[in-house]
Amino acid sequence: MKHVIALDVGGTGMKAALLAQDGSVLFEARRPTGREHGTDAVVATILDFAADLAEEGRSRFGQGPAAAGVAVPGTIDEKNGIAVFSANLGWRDLPMRKLLGERLGGLPVALGHDVRTGGLAEGRIGAGRGVGRFLFIALGTGIAGAIGIEGRIEAGAHGYGGEIGHVVVRPGGPQCGCGAKGCLETLASASAVSRAWAAASGDPAADAAACAAAVQAGDPAALAVWHQAVDALADGIVLAQSLLDPSTVIVGGGLAEAGDTLFTPLRAAVAERLTFQMPPKVVPAMLKDTAASLGAGLLAWDLLSMEVTA
Ligand SMILES: [Zn+2]
Repeated sequence: MKHVIALDVGGTGMKAALLAQDGSVLFEARRPTGREHGTDAVVATILDFAADLAEEGRSRFGQGPAAAGVAVPGTIDEKNGIAVFSANLGWRDLPMRKLLGERLGGLPVALGHDVRTGGLAEGRIGAGRGVGRFLFIALGTGIAGAIGIEGRIEAGAHGYGGEIGHVVVRPGGPQCGCGAKGCLETLASASAVSRAWAAASGDPAADAAACAAAVQAGDPAALAVWHQAVDALADGIVLAQSLLDPSTVIVGGGLAEAGDTLFTPLRAAVAERLTFQMPPKVVPAMLKDTAASLGAGLLAWDLLSMEVTA
C-alpha cells in the first residue's frame, strides 16, 4: 500500500505514523527526543527514527514510503526546508529536509512548523473538515495559532503568520518571553492559568486542570482566575475575527481539555464582544496530540500530488 512517513518532533517526545493517502493511520510509533543528550544527538535520533519508519513500511507493505513529512518547533524556512531556530532543541539553520532526504535514499521530504501542520490536519481531517476559513489556536505552555484558508495554512511573509499568542490584549500586563507585555499567552495559556491558580490557591503544585476542577465545583477564587483567562482569550479571538473573519475557531491544547468549562463561557464572552462581526463557531480541536504528526503526513502527500501535476 502506498504510504508516507509522518513525523512530529516535540521538545520531549516524537510522534510518528505511516499515513495512507486518505489520511488514515497505518502504523504509529513514539520515541523520546532525548534533548538532554544535545542537539547533534537529537538530529541523529530524528534521522534514525525516520529510517526505522521507512523500514517498517517496507516490511509491512512490501514497498517503502513514497515521501516523508516532518514537523518541528521553533522558526522554520518551509520553502528551503531549513529548521532555522529552536530554543528548545538547540539547533540553528539546520538543513533538515536535505539531511532527511539523504538518509531516506533521496525520498521527497516536506518540512513544516509544528503548530501550522497541526492546524492543517485539524482543517482537513479534524474539527475544521469542510470549513473554508478557520483559525486554529493551541493553548499549551504558550499560545500558538494557524490561519486556515481553503485547505492550506497561511504562514505569512516571514513564517510568523497566526502568532495570536503574542497579540497584546492587556497593555502593560505580565511580561512575555517574547519581550512584550500583556501578550495573550501570558494570560490564557495553560501555563498562565496554572501560575495564576497556584498563586491564588496557595498550592504551588496546582495546575490549570486543578483550576478547571475547582471552577466546576463553584470555587469563587478559581472562577476569578478562569474568567481572567477566558476574557483575555475572547479579546484575542475578537481581534482575529475582525481581521480574518474565519467561520470557525478551533481551540486545542491542554486548556481545551476542560471542555464545556472552557467553551461555554468562552463562546459567551466572544458573543458579547462582537458588534458588526459575524460570530465564529468556537469548537474544540479533535486530533489532540497527534495533529502535528498527521499534518506532517498531509504535507508529504501534498508534495506527491504537486509532483504529479507538475
Ligand atoms: Zn509575547
